[in-house]
Amino acid sequence: MPKKIAIIGSGPAGCYAASSLIKSNIEIDVFERLVFPFGLVRSGVAPDHQKIKKVNSLFYKTLSHPLCRLIANVEVGKDISINKLLEYYSAVILSHGAEHDRKLNIEGESLLGSYTATEFVGWYNSHPDFQNREFNFNIKNVAIIGQGNVAIDVARILAKPVSELEPTDISVKTINDLKQSKIENIYVIGRRGPVQAAFTDKELKELGQIPNCDLVIKKEDLKLSDTDKKELEIADKVKRSNFLLLEEFSNKPIGNSKKKLHLVFYKSPVEFIGSEKIEKIKLETNKLEGSPGKQKSIGQGEYEELDVDIVFTSIGYLGKPIEALPFKWGKYLNIDGRIVDENEKTIKGLYCSGWIKRGPSGVIGTNKACSVETVKSLIEDLETLPDAKGDILDVIDKRVVSLSDWGKIDQRELELGKERGKERLKFLSNEEALEFLESGG
Ligand code: FAD
Repeated sequence: MPKKIAIIGSGPAGCYAASSLIKSNIEIDVFERLVFPFGLVRSGVAPDHQKIKKVNSLFYKTLSHPLCRLIANVEVGKDISINKLLEYYSAVILSHGAEHDRKLNIEGESLLGSYTATEFVGWYNSHPDFQNREFNFNIKNVAIIGQGNVAIDVARILAKPVSELEPTDISVKTINDLKQSKIENIYVIGRRGPVQAAFTDKELKELGQIPNCDLVIKKEDLKLSDTDKKELEIADKVKRSNFLLLEEFSNKPIGNSKKKLHLVFYKSPVEFIGSEKIEKIKLETNKLEGSPGKQKSIGQGEYEELDVDIVFTSIGYLGKPIEALPFKWGKYLNIDGRIVDENEKTIKGLYCSGWIKRGPSGVIGTNKACSVETVKSLIEDLETLPDAKGDILDVIDKRVVSLSDWGKIDQRELELGKERGKERLKFLSNEEALEFLESGG
């Protein structure tokens, strides 16, 4: 048998790796633990950013290539081991993303009303893992900790009129719950300043265009130190554009909408306060220290308390290994995508790409170059890798979901969406989708 590669994960990294292997005329099986492919493009990218989700049609094309096979509803590490895969395939590429949350590790973090952005995003995007979550929006004040694009997504979903979200593929439960919303203040809190904020200008611009919601930025937060000015000079154009937008927003008079979205800089949460549920967060004021581009926030011992009813922490995703392999700081130890041990010795046949290779940062497209680099390493090693043996499906004792099954689920979701005036109505669990397939699709 010729060479054949197993890719674990059907998100952007897995699909870009598959596409790159196809160009080298190599056969691939792509494993996906859910019934639904495409990773965070389906379950992370915000529902009001449907254009971005269109990249899935490119990934679909890759998965439908004759050299490629989708094996979904199979969780590697649970339903089948990596060692078993290595018996059948020439090599394995781990592209399973970074699905866990980072925690603040502060007092009160486990109080009722304290959630992670990961849970909320998964919930509104119909990811099966998060459908048992309950959120109460019949409240006044929300804080979001973090100022990356995920924090901005969360803020926008809470701030936007429900009528703008309803036609998207957002879950019906989310819409029903958001219809009860009495939210008046959304605080998006960052520990550093406007020059260091991690959001991008396109996302920031959108915040200033939400109907019936005023963006509030304190002018004094935009006063730059000499180090900030130098940092801005050497920064990329997104950071400069961010700052110009922030200045523009802060120069406008604040409107009289009941709903306000506050961008709060130079504050770190040190405690969530409440008896059973969260009532306040204690924030410490920071100053920045360090050279341009490397400034760190330093607590000043000055505190204030902010009334909040719910908090979403959005301080980054976290990768975990699916089996015991060399792993550090949320990533597999690797050199150019080859998994290596502590002594940088290559572990034969094992590769990685995407968020689990680089850490949870970068946009969809960033995963292309990342996966291409990994595949280049694999192709260089190809002669040393064993030929493939047999068909893995012979040893998987589970209902496997193929690309043609996914095609039926996809069609059904689109049909159901059309009936309800939505882009798509997603299945909420693997079981529900499997039942649909069993009933004849
Ligand atoms: P993922 O997309 O997470 O894919 C990993 C896949 O592996 C998943 O399908 C998962 O189910 C599967 N998997 C996990 N474990 C196993 C296992 N054991 N066995 C089999 N399969 C497994 N980028 C943009 O360009 N534009 C945006 O608007 C945008 N919005 C975002 C919004 C959010 C909330 C987040 C978190 C990210 C966003 N990104 C956006 C970034 C983009 O989604 C990531 O760069 C990209 O998805 C990372 O790709 P990946 O393949 O490494 O991981």
